[in-house]
This record gives sequence, C-alpha cells and structure tokens, in this order.
Amino acid sequence: MVANRLPVDKVVGPDGEITYRRSPGGLVTALEPVLQQRNGTWTGWPGGAGDTDAKEETFEAGGISLHTVPLSAGEIERYYEGFSNSSLWPLYHDAVETPIFKRRWWDAYRLVNERFAKAVAEDAAPGATVWVQDYQLQLVPALLRESRPDLKIGFFLHIPFPPVELFMQLPRRADILKGLLGADLVGFQRPLGAQNFVQLARHLLGTRVRRGIVEWEGRTVRAEAFPISIDVEEMRRLAASPEVQARAAAIRTELGEPRTIILGVDRLDYTKGIERRLKAFRELLSDGRLTAPETVMVQVATPSRERVEHYQTLRVNVEREVGRINGEYGRVGQPAVHYLHQSYSRAELAALYVAADVMMVTPLRDGMNLVAKEYVGAHADGRGAIVLSEFAGAAAELRQAFLCNPHDLDGVKDALMRAIEVDPVEGRKRMHAMHSHLRAHDVRTWADSFLDALGAAS
Ligand code: UDP
Repeated sequence: MVANRLPVDKVVGPDGEITYRRSPGGLVTALEPVLQQRNGTWTGWPGGAGDTDAKEETFEAGGISLHTVPLSAGEIERYYEGFSNSSLWPLYHDAVETPIFKRRWWDAYRLVNERFAKAVAEDAAPGATVWVQDYQLQLVPALLRESRPDLKIGFFLHIPFPPVELFMQLPRRADILKGLLGADLVGFQRPLGAQNFVQLARHLLGTRVRRGIVEWEGRTVRAEAFPISIDVEEMRRLAASPEVQARAAAIRTELGEPRTIILGVDRLDYTKGIERRLKAFRELLSDGRLTAPETVMVQVATPSRERVEHYQTLRVNVEREVGRINGEYGRVGQPAVHYLHQSYSRAELAALYVAADVMMVTPLRDGMNLVAKEYVGAHADGRGAIVLSEFAGAAAELRQAFLCNPHDLDGVKDALMRAIEVDPVEGRKRMHAMHSHLRAHDVRTWADSFLDALGAAS
C-alpha cells in the first residue's frame, strides 16, 4: 500500500524520543483493517517535517509493517500544501475555490512521487500487488511500472475526478494522466469519475478506448467505480457500547435536553459546505420555523491544512457566521450553535452520532463522505435522520437520506425541516434501509472488490 500518509503521527518527546500515535482520517479508517488481514506494508509520510537528509525507516505498528518516507519543510510546503492541496484539491472539487498553479510546486510533486515510487520498488516482492492511494501520488503508477514492470499496480482516487474541461486547466495535465495510466486498474468513487478519465485519455492523448478500458503503450488500463465504505460492524458495536451510550446521554444533558440536536462533523474545508449549512440554520431560526434552545446545532470542524490561505479565510468566515447566530439566538449558557474547532476520537464521534437527531452532510462536492456512512452505521436502531448533499459520493448509495442541492439554500432548509419533522415510522424505515445497504457494502467488500478486479486486470 502506498499513500501520502502513514496511519500514524510521529511524536517527538521532550527527551528526543520518537513515538507514533494513530492519526485520524477517512483513508486510515478504511485501509488499516485491509492491510492487517493481508500482511501488507504501508509506505507513506509519517507526518511532521523531517530534515532534508532524514532517513527512511521500516518498522511494525498495529499489526502492519510501515515504511516511512520523510518530507522536508520545503517539500511539505510545495508538494503537499502547494500542488496537492492548492492546485489539485480545488480543481478536482469543481474549482469551488480557484486553483493556484506554481511550477516549483509541480517540481516538488514530481520529486516526492519519485521518492515514493523508489521506496515501493525496493520493498515489493517479485510480482507483488501494489495499491497506490489518492491524488497526492498520481505519478507513482507510471514511475513504478518503469522500474518494476513485474508488479500489478492499482490506483484508487478518493476524491472526484473532474470533467475534461476542468482537468484541461492543469498546466501539467498530460504528465498526470500518463502517471495514472501506469496502473492496470484505476478506481474511482463514482462511475462518472471513470467516464471522465476515459474521455480525458481519448481527448488528451488520442488513445483508443472501449467501455471503461484505455489502450495505452501496448497495455490496457481499466477504469471503474468502487465506492469506498466503512467498517459498519465496528461502528455499530462502538455506538451500542455502554460507554458510548452513556456519553451520548451525557451530551444531551450537557446541551440542555433540547428537542432536536442537529450535528455536523467535517474537516474545516471549503468543499464541505459548512458556511451554507450554518446560514440555512440561521434563516430557519429567523423565519421562526425553528426556535432556540429547543433546537441546538453542534458543528465539529476539525482543524485542517491551516497554513493554506483558502483554509484561513474559510475559518474566519465560518467563525463569523457562528458568532452571528449565537449573538442573535443564543442565551447565557445556551448557545444556539456549539462550534468545536477540535479533533475527536472515534468514541466521542460515535457518542455525538448517537446523540444527534439529524446529521447534516452538505458538501458542495465530496468524493464519498465517510461521516455520512458512519452516522448511518451508528444507527442500527433506526433512530435519526440524515440531510445529504447530492454532490457527495455517498448520495449514490444513501438514497433514503433527505437529499438536497447545497447550492439551493431554500432546498437545504426544506430538507432539514423534513428530516426534523419526519414521521418516526417512516424515519426508521429510511434509516434501516440505509443501514442494511451499508452492511452489504462495507469497507471489506470495497477493498476485496478492488483487489479482485486488480487481480483480474491484465
Ligand atoms: N474524523 C475523526 N475525528 C474528527 C473528525 C473526523 O476521526 O474529529 C474522521 C471521521 O470519523 C471520518 C474521517 O475522519 O472517518 C473523515 O472522512 P470523510 O470522508 O468524511 O472526509 P475527509 O476528511 O476524508 O474529506
């Protein structure tokens, strides 16, 4: 497995001692169990800025072998914060913020991709299967194929793959595409991503394409959708545990036993639609369709990419909106919005999911959105409701959610009111249907179906 991040954070103690702590994030949640089962090695950045000459290390942690690829402060700035998160991330998410392109970011992206490919080429046994993850490493498949043509190479993109017109804005578009075409199988969250990819190959490189297959340099590259999922059973068990149930009850008490708790859990990212969600809530309070403190919103906004300018602006805007709502509708000791700019453990998130009557997941564009699936996973009892953006990959599967177009504020408000006022019998029917869907399509089925398809790919 090769991914930008290892599933751990490097922590340097006061005496210089190095330890590793499990790090949060959708990818980690999804892939750790897969690697444990398959005795794999995970290659990635351990977090933190290493010295420019920091050495790569291999060690065991949590039942899997880890190979660290350290990054210098300059590489983090140019490869990670620059090209990955200021060029690719906004471009692949419908350019909801304007992508920024700088040549020196691209140069660092290429160099870091080369380093990852080299690390994997050294570790992989003859004929091994290599699974490359996500937009930070799109050059790795072709680089790896060059040095190790014996390997079976799969690539999975966790974020959306944009339509041709958008992708064409990318200054190094052909290099990125050729990088991906080094794989035998390229996986996407939705069929539309696979279609965009195949169309792009025809448009940009003039390749021959057949249904989901691109012919390139005498090989065939398959493009297909594999919607990622969660460990549903683990979430169900966690949510049902006495500790989480007690914590959920305590949260409701701490919030003043409101009639309705609305919950949002997101990284503080401009793709997640947090500002619009808050605005919808404020307008419902101002229209009198909702009242505080009978209704309370809890918004977890996990700190993310804090050195990137787009994210700094977003934080200011979100916090201004929270302040405005609490200024107008809060009371002493009873804010209308509980805004938490913090990172939470899985157990605390599970307690929040259990406590919440309505979950709001309203991204402007999102590859999948695991939080939506986790909320459903935590509600085996059928309680709760979910307002879900049509622009989240999860919307293709969670059809019984209260779907909305996040660009249509009135539509979001109506969807939220319908979720709050749903008849309990109908609400349970919807939640049970979504929960059963997830039980049949969990993270293991996702990984197995990708790896089976990769095994079958030529
Ligand atoms: N998460 C977490 N602690 C937090 C907030 C989020 O562990 O404080 C986890 C959450 O449970 C989910 C993941 O981070 O598994 C977020 O994945 P998602 O697909 O929703 O969004 P992403 O952050 O990958 O864009």
